[in-house]
Amino acid sequence: MRPFRTKALVGALTLGLALAACGDDGNGTGTGGGAESEYEVVDNPEFESGTTMADLAEQGNITIGVKFDQPGIGQMPPGEDAPVGFDIEMAKIVAGQLGISPDNIEWKETVSDNREPFLQNDVVDLVIASYSITEDRQKVVGQAGPYYVTGQQLLVREEDKDTIAGPDDLEGVKVCSVTGSTSIQTVTEEYGADPTPFDTYSACVRQLQNDTVDAVTTDGAILLGYAAQDPDNLEVVGPEFSEERYGIGYSKGDAEMCQFLTDTINNSFENGSWNTAFESTLGQAGVETPEPPETDPCPSA
Ligand code: GLU
Repeated sequence: MRPFRTKALVGALTLGLALAACGDDGNGTGTGGGAESEYEVVDNPEFESGTTMADLAEQGNITIGVKFDQPGIGQMPPGEDAPVGFDIEMAKIVAGQLGISPDNIEWKETVSDNREPFLQNDVVDLVIASYSITEDRQKVVGQAGPYYVTGQQLLVREEDKDTIAGPDDLEGVKVCSVTGSTSIQTVTEEYGADPTPFDTYSACVRQLQNDTVDAVTTDGAILLGYAAQDPDNLEVVGPEFSEERYGIGYSKGDAEMCQFLTDTINNSFENGSWNTAFESTLGQAGVETPEPPETDPCPSA
């Protein structure tokens, strides 16, 4: 039996629901969903009482931790009050199933290193932020999914693309990546790079552009977004050398939430909303729409 049911027998696609965007409070948060929601916002969803989903649906709003500086994935465009990107679209899909329209999502900026503490300390309800599912993370938070699989690559200056062409060329090379990410761990432990840690990938890209480091490494999907912003100078090189399975972070131990998120992800694969989300974001950056991945079973309680 499904752990939740909705009253939305008429699966109304709510176009134009989210016209009222609210202002960014200038504090790493914003509310609003852009011009309109392309996804179903369930009318009066019903959840078993006492569940986190019931509380969120009742409350009518949700706080979601997302990246603000990753083009194609999660980015707050200058002067805007709501972020854009594939993770943002996934967040709208999930919120819609809780009966929450995009204008009632509070977007909280998260960086790689504060995703677990934000969930553990209830700063956010969910994290949807290029968040790879790992055993270490699952010791302290829950992660449902994956909803997308990518892999780690390298971003280099155009003139270096023949000398730094893949992970085997990294021995002793100054490589920027982000504290708390899988990327910095892999490149340091497995490829002997000389790591330069920063808080964000956009800071790393600036280091590459001003010659302070010679490569930036993280997931290919993220790097392609930066390369697209400076195509004359930056290039993504080499094969993918890790598997990054993006999951939705929730509070550890919330078994009903895991099932709700997993069902919502699987339904989005089936009803076309995942495709819409991908094609309107990473697809626009030239990433080919992959087959949706298979989701993991939720941990038994
Ligand atoms: N997906 C990787 C991770 O979760 C790298 C990207 C990021 O830091 O957000 O660590």
